[in-house]
Amino acid sequence: MMLLEVASLKAFYGASQALFNVDLTVSEGEVVALMGRNGMGKTTTIRAVCNLTPPRGGSVRLAGTDLRGRRPHHVARLGIGLVPEGRRCFPNLTVEENLVAAARSGAWTLERVNTLFPRLKERRDQMALSLSGGEQQMLAIGRALMTNPRLLILDEATEGLAPVIRQDIWAAIRTLKQDGLSILVVDKTLPELLPVADRCTILENGRSVWTGRPAELDKTLQDRFLGI
Ligand code: ATP
Repeated sequence: MMLLEVASLKAFYGASQALFNVDLTVSEGEVVALMGRNGMGKTTTIRAVCNLTPPRGGSVRLAGTDLRGRRPHHVARLGIGLVPEGRRCFPNLTVEENLVAAARSGAWTLERVNTLFPRLKERRDQMALSLSGGEQQMLAIGRALMTNPRLLILDEATEGLAPVIRQDIWAAIRTLKQDGLSILVVDKTLPELLPVADRCTILENGRSVWTGRPAELDKTLQDRFLGI
């Protein structure tokens, strides 16, 4: 079944159009990499899907339900767990308080998040603001999982993190995939991203211009759409 179905999506910042025509799908249990050079519209697509930047055209459906016009918290309740760029947690709450505050009933519990990220258990009584960037990203992912999402969206999953922590984040993403979670992920580290992705969709100037399996994304396509 098609979990996320984005068709002909258009979005603006004021009068300036950022998305012209984005088509994107994620089926149940699929990991889709949303790719493209800087400024091509990846973050805006994610924001439009979650109604943080309400689309001005096209459609967004989650398991058949039209998401247009719904407040971001309602989108979250319908089943999208977002890990935004720059990971937002409550700085003055502890790690555990951050996780519990996000909780909704389902298979994901504090114990399960702590098993996925043992570091979060070690740091459970620390304020979120005292965490390293990588630990904050783990917390942001943990928070999204605590909502028991049907679809997890990660914008810049490992950007700016220490190499060791990046590996932990990728390992967690692989575990989530094995568990059957549907994931839409943006990241610049192709050697880690491509093996975990079932499919890639590439954006160029606010348009989806290519979609296919990672194995089909050859050097020519990479140079054309992702090269500097
Ligand atoms: P990056 O990897 O650099 O974040 P991206 O692919 O996520 O790139 P977006 O951030 O979605 O791209 O940007 C798409 C377009 O929208 C760009 O032309 C960008 O300059 C513009 N844009 C993004 N945010 C805003 C904003 N708050 N106000 C105005 N224009 C914006």
